[in-house]
Amino acid sequence: MECIFCKIAQKELPTKLIYEDNLVVAFDDLHPRAPIHKLIIPRKHIATLNDITDIDMPLIGHILHTAQKLAKDCDIAEQGYRVVNNCNAGAGQTVFHLHFHLLGGREMSWPPG
Ligand code: 5GP
Ligand code: ZN
Repeated sequence: MECIFCKIAQKELPTKLIYEDNLVVAFDDLHPRAPIHKLIIPRKHIATLNDITDIDMPLIGHILHTAQKLAKDCDIAEQGYRVVNNCNAGAGQTVFHLHFHLLGGREMSWPPG
């Protein structure tokens, strides 16, 4: 399957992984929108948040737990950070392999554009 995030997870596309385990991998975004901008993705190919099912609930919890861990590692846990999923093109999704953005290191405005 032609999916860049599957390729990153399977190490077919050289990308420095900042975290990996049996369920997820994390790496720096190619075009960072904040001083800290990481992507956390499941190893399993799921196109969008619309496609998760009951069996994925532990995986989604694990992704958020990973975000918490990375935020602590990057020293942004106390100042604050944002975890974002863009679901489908209307929300700005461009890569159709589920991913969560971890953004921090600057003030975040609200609401997002
Ligand atoms: P989306 O717009 O789908 O929510 O987020 C996709 C993100 O993936 C974008 O922020 C984009 O910069 C990032 N991205 C796209 N291709 C690559 C890549 O090959 N490597 C990395 N590290 N990030 C990528
Ligand atoms: Zn994929």
